[in-house]
Amino acid sequence: MTSSEHQSEPAAFTDADLAAVRAGVAQWRGPVLELSRAVNADPELAYAEHRAAARCADLLESGGFVVERAAYGLDTAFAARAGAGDRHVVVCAEYDALPGVGHACGHNVIAASAVGAGLVLAPLAEAAGLRVTVLGTPAEEVGGGKVDLLRAGAFEGADAAVMMHPTPWDDYGPESLAIEEWDVTYRGRASHASAAPELGLNALDGVVAGYQAVAMLRQHLRPFQQVHGIISHGGDAPNVVPERTEAKYYLRARTVADLEDLRHRVRACLEGSAISTGTGIEVEAVGNPYLPLQPHAGLVAAFTAACAALGRPFTPDPAGAAFGGSTDFGDVSQALPGLHADMTIHSWPAVNHTHEFAAHCVTEAADATVLDAAGALALTALAVARRPDVVLA
Ligand SMILES: [Zn+2]
Ligand SMILES: [Zn+2]
Repeated sequence: MTSSEHQSEPAAFTDADLAAVRAGVAQWRGPVLELSRAVNADPELAYAEHRAAARCADLLESGGFVVERAAYGLDTAFAARAGAGDRHVVVCAEYDALPGVGHACGHNVIAASAVGAGLVLAPLAEAAGLRVTVLGTPAEEVGGGKVDLLRAGAFEGADAAVMMHPTPWDDYGPESLAIEEWDVTYRGRASHASAAPELGLNALDGVVAGYQAVAMLRQHLRPFQQVHGIISHGGDAPNVVPERTEAKYYLRARTVADLEDLRHRVRACLEGSAISTGTGIEVEAVGNPYLPLQPHAGLVAAFTAACAALGRPFTPDPAGAAFGGSTDFGDVSQALPGLHADMTIHSWPAVNHTHEFAAHCVTEAADATVLDAAGALALTALAVARRPDVVLA
């Protein structure tokens, strides 16, 4: 294809691609939706998603993929590979759940749509000059499996990485916030709370004063700088001056510079509270910090065209594009062209991380989104193969 033909052709995939993808989605409908339901019904936490990863890997194997389990040094990662050619697209499958609320972020929908896209692409890839990898990416909710995988080379040489995420509204090119997680420990000195309180150093006072200082800081933060925390251990008995307390904080910001600024200001709040209460403090960053999402305009355009071609209506957030949350795909999208398409499962007013949203992730509307996403991700990958300038945009 010449460059002049590029300009005259509006869709980057062909009519034949569209027909083949439709047929592939119809062919795999049953097993893919069964996968979505099975993962939702059997929630596993970050880095422990053994059964979910195996379910995805088994189905991909049955569709002709060569599957490497426990890939890149992570027990619950996998890399499923098919096709051949100069172009390489990675489709990311998440499958971790949340403590207490199960699949309340709908990662079963992500897993099923990524596997579905792979199954649809497998018989089409080689003829299109496309290598496709469905990458099983553990631990999105905490830890940051994609950051581990990125470091281990899982995305090396890939032309694009694509995935979807279920949400209350459609937004095919959302932004997200950078995030860092802190575990904070205060250490004081135990004493009899009534008979000898003057001998105690109160670690509960330290953690409470720190929490309140952060609350006062909030008024003076930059837009989209966020801090939220919990006191996870507040002492052991009322009649013992607490000698050890713990808190967890998440720090978020729109840019890396704003996150760095926030680190200094929150740390000052926490250290100040330790000084004022005579306690010691340890602040430990947990897991990988996540970078903000950088949606690739060419991939967003290709995905949008794919959804339109598949006849999926676009459902925008009536309040304007919502902005918040974080994902380890942010790091991927900063390293290579990336698509993280938020797709509605028509759950409103239920939002992610609620019991209600977990239930919405196995409705007919969620199933329809799984199938739309599988088709649209497959067409986007074919667009990258047909028109490499999609990822140069
Ligand atoms: Zn999620
Ligand atoms: Zn989530």
